[in-house]
Amino acid sequence: MTRTGPHGCPAEGHVRVRMLAVGICGTDLSLASGSRTPPELPWRLGHEGVGEIIEVGRGVEEWAIGDKVALEPNITCGRCEYCLRGMTSACASRLSAGVLTQPGFLAEVLDHPSGFCHRVPAGIPVERAVCAEPLTVAASAIRRTELQGGEDVLVIGAGAQGLLATLILVDRGYRPLVSEPDETRLQLAVELGARAFVPGAGPAPQTVIDAAGVPDGLAAVVDQLSPFAKVTVVGEDQDRLGASTFDIVQRQLSIRGSFIYEHPQDMATAVAMLETLPTEAIVGTGLSLDDAPHLLGANVCRRPGVKQWVDLRD
Ligand SMILES: [Zn+2]
Ligand SMILES: [Zn+2]
Repeated sequence: MTRTGPHGCPAEGHVRVRMLAVGICGTDLSLASGSRTPPELPWRLGHEGVGEIIEVGRGVEEWAIGDKVALEPNITCGRCEYCLRGMTSACASRLSAGVLTQPGFLAEVLDHPSGFCHRVPAGIPVERAVCAEPLTVAASAIRRTELQGGEDVLVIGAGAQGLLATLILVDRGYRPLVSEPDETRLQLAVELGARAFVPGAGPAPQTVIDAAGVPDGLAAVVDQLSPFAKVTVVGEDQDRLGASTFDIVQRQLSIRGSFIYEHPQDMATAVAMLETLPTEAIVGTGLSLDDAPHLLGANVCRRPGVKQWVDLRD
């Protein structure tokens, strides 16, 4: 494969990064399959990346060559009404690498704004660090849920988001219940410290992290929730939610969506969590960059319970 990448010096305030690993998630698969439209074609995917700084642009004080970083792909403006209120996830001028506006991280070398890099703790294996961005999504959903401590938490879906949420909850002393139709995924969640959710048996969950976002997921559990249960939806799907207004009113459910995270604190917090969270438990063997297009095209990345990633190390 020929090396391509940025030429000249990095722009002011930017660092040049040699990519080490890029995670693949459902967003990439929907862009690759055409169920979601990329801004242009061809389009470079990848919004879950870690790399090593190889050059720094003018005005960059905080980074040096050799630093390992996780890249924050959502580049928010810092000036709009929402950014100024700390609600950067609603930034109207948000740039989004790999998804909406900027070429993605599936590259050998790229430039990135220095303020949207987060230091990977020393000694963290790349198989763990590659989960930094999706871990930030899961951790932000849990932060926004405002757990009280000791409540029964149900995680719907044991894909990567559900499994990362499970890891965070277990680390915080919870034994989450997990609802997942696929036996292999459910088994992995149980190995990570969750309990399999059996409708009608055990406690009625007071809090739900819906990491599936599909009608069937919530529909399968909504009758089992505690009155006043809080539901945080982080999984996205075009179908309507599997709860009727009858369910919501009679059970007095609070349902909220959780979209990405707030810059910069949420990703900084999640990257620090990598010190103790064994996120490598959910990733498979790294793919080569040459394999990635075939796998994305054939949509065979959907191996149950395992997060796919591209290993870009030499
Ligand atoms: Zn993703
Ligand atoms: Zn903004």
